[in-house]
Amino acid sequence: MTRLLLVEDDKQFSTAITISLRARGYEVTIAGGGREALARFGSEHFEAVVLDLGLGDIDGIEVITEIRKVSSTPILVLSARHGEVSKIDALDAGADDYVTKPFGLGEFLARLRATIRRGTPSHNMAKVMVGPLTIDLAAKMLLDATGTQIKLTPTEWSLLEVLALENNQLVARSDLLFKVWGPSHKSEFDYLRVYVAQLRRKLEPNPGSPRYLITETGVGYRLLGERLE
Ligand code: CA
Repeated sequence: MTRLLLVEDDKQFSTAITISLRARGYEVTIAGGGREALARFGSEHFEAVVLDLGLGDIDGIEVITEIRKVSSTPILVLSARHGEVSKIDALDAGADDYVTKPFGLGEFLARLRATIRRGTPSHNMAKVMVGPLTIDLAAKMLLDATGTQIKLTPTEWSLLEVLALENNQLVARSDLLFKVWGPSHKSEFDYLRVYVAQLRRKLEPNPGSPRYLITETGVGYRLLGERLE
């Protein structure tokens, strides 16, 4: 059973979606507001959070920020907002993906599965050295020169993993979007800008002039590393 925390102040909506999720084997806990969500999240274990941005008490973005202070649990955002700003704000705060209401159930479930999959272990045994840092593909960890883990969200990890698997090769923007976010996101270049900037803050000695995560303008990205088997 996959345990989900569904954060939504619209009772009718949360009831409907919970019925669909439970029918597919998810165990769903509903929080009707941001404060309740944070209290639940602090005391129980969830494999993923599905979060509406417009809540009655505190803003959804604040909920994401608070969760990210303590956890890298996958977060899928739902919102009726159409503004690019709140979408980018949600990603920037650490959400993994975003579905705009109204959405089809099939699309929502596919995004949810992809979001959860990013948080689960892989079987690739290789390591890639990026400057003094080590990308451990089996452990899904980024380690600094002293072997201390540098925390990444599931989506940051997924992006780094795709680039590391193609070590030194150019990866086209649409390929990155497809592999990390799925087929419906092939032209969401904003996602890449946000997440590449976040990764650079963790990878690069000087994020403003990258040495390892290189932009090929208008084409894609490449990660310059040394692969160890
Ligand atoms: Ca709402």
